[in-house]
Amino acid sequence: MDDSLLGGAHKIVIVGGGAAGLELASALGKKARKDASIEVTLVDASPTHIWKPLLHEVAAGTLDTTEELEYLSQARWRYFNFRLGTMERLDREKKEIVLSPTLNDEGEELIPRRSFSYDTLVIAVGSVSNSFAIQGVEKHCQFLDNARQAFRFQKHLVQTFMRIYSRRPSRGKGMSIAIIGAGATGVELAAELHNVMQQLAIYGLDEHQTGEAVKISLIEAADRLLPALPDRLSGATARQLGELGIELILGRRVVEVTETGVMIEGGEKVTADIKVWAAGIKGPDWLCNLDGLEINSAQQLMVAETLQTTRDENIFAIGDCAACAWVGHEGNVPPRAQAAHQQATLLSKSLVDRVKGEALMPYRYKDYGSLVSLGKYSTVGNLMGNLMGSVSVGGFIARVFYLSLYKMHQIKVHGYFKTAMLTLATRLRKTATSHIKLH
Ligand SMILES: Cc1cc2nc3c(=O)[nH]c(=O)nc-3n(C[C@H](O)[C@H](O)[C@H](O)COP(=O)(O)OP(=O)(O)OC[C@H]3O[C@@H](n4cnc5c(N)ncnc54)[C@H](O)[C@@H]3O)c2cc1C
Repeated sequence: MDDSLLGGAHKIVIVGGGAAGLELASALGKKARKDASIEVTLVDASPTHIWKPLLHEVAAGTLDTTEELEYLSQARWRYFNFRLGTMERLDREKKEIVLSPTLNDEGEELIPRRSFSYDTLVIAVGSVSNSFAIQGVEKHCQFLDNARQAFRFQKHLVQTFMRIYSRRPSRGKGMSIAIIGAGATGVELAAELHNVMQQLAIYGLDEHQTGEAVKISLIEAADRLLPALPDRLSGATARQLGELGIELILGRRVVEVTETGVMIEGGEKVTADIKVWAAGIKGPDWLCNLDGLEINSAQQLMVAETLQTTRDENIFAIGDCAACAWVGHEGNVPPRAQAAHQQATLLSKSLVDRVKGEALMPYRYKDYGSLVSLGKYSTVGNLMGNLMGSVSVGGFIARVFYLSLYKMHQIKVHGYFKTAMLTLATRLRKTATSHIKLH
């Protein structure tokens, strides 16, 4: 039996309520309701949650607002405590985390700096874009690391659109967007933005005419897009994007981003009104100095197969911020929602077992394949199974599997009934409102 029980419930603090942390807090909270030996607290920098793989839809303005969840309401519904704040420091000896003061939009302090003690700490703070120190990226690019950035991007998109098409004659030079990085995020964003540009014209925003070109360029250092997927699928996706008129610049490295465009090796410039960076991720910078916890070169916390950090058995890390060996493969478990989901599922069992003095179970990543949504145009990907190996899928079947990953997250967080009701509500709203955000 754990010592902490002598002084009351064992305090499990989870920092980061994303794909991994929110699922874990919801599952553990449900258990804590019946088991007084554990108390669960979730800390997040934001008061609301949007599942990160939907951020390209937030950025494009196509996401329904019912997909946003309030942590406080979820905490009440799933019996955990929620604390708003950004973790900035860790004291392993005192077993305490420190949160920065929370400010309002005017910069006034709402909540002072405060600390919370833990018996078990789970760090699930996700990842941020890796600019690889390329000049001009931080200053001139848009990022999709969190919902705040995605909403800001959406506003910038509509405002840039209005500015350009209200000033240029309708047959003049149109708007241009460059997306750097043709992994799943870049490809999904390109397709979604293409759809949105058509919609903005249909809704009659300023003088933009349907069919008038908004130039979207997708720039990738590897010689094909979707490098993580089989050749055949990246070929099919390239053809589909080509048919939409999206320019693909493959096998070319970006060397600088300026206010007016993207410089690629060889001296060529891709002119762009909007530049988006989607070329790789790393752990947030503050993890580099977290009271001696070990990190890898991508600033992710190194964890053992039990998901415990290598230098502190009371601290776990899951999701994108964790570097966990992919047993039987080279390298680490990839930073994906399905890995975050699996790790949260494992810890929701093993953390409770650990409080009861039982041994921790090892984590084994199961790759069920990768699916990429091309918005309303198509979905492509490959599915993995024990018997069938890797099977390429597209169209309706791929769409169903793509949506099922999000439904699994929703079911874990809300349960079956509420997920069904939310799905219905989203469908009904779509019949009564515009399909995109127009402001
Ligand atoms: C546009 C896009 C599309 C994607 N599509 C797919 C896909 O189709 N399939 C797939 O498998 N994966 C996809 N991914 C990757 C997937 O979103 C991530 O792998 C997954 O969200 C990781 O989960 P996480 O819990 O580690 O981090 P996140 O979901 O990012 O959650 C991190 C949480 O930590 C909070 N936080 C951060 N810092 C602090 C702090 N200092 N203090 C307190 N709280 C903090 C954040 O507010 C956030 O709530 C996509 C990613 C993007 C950006």
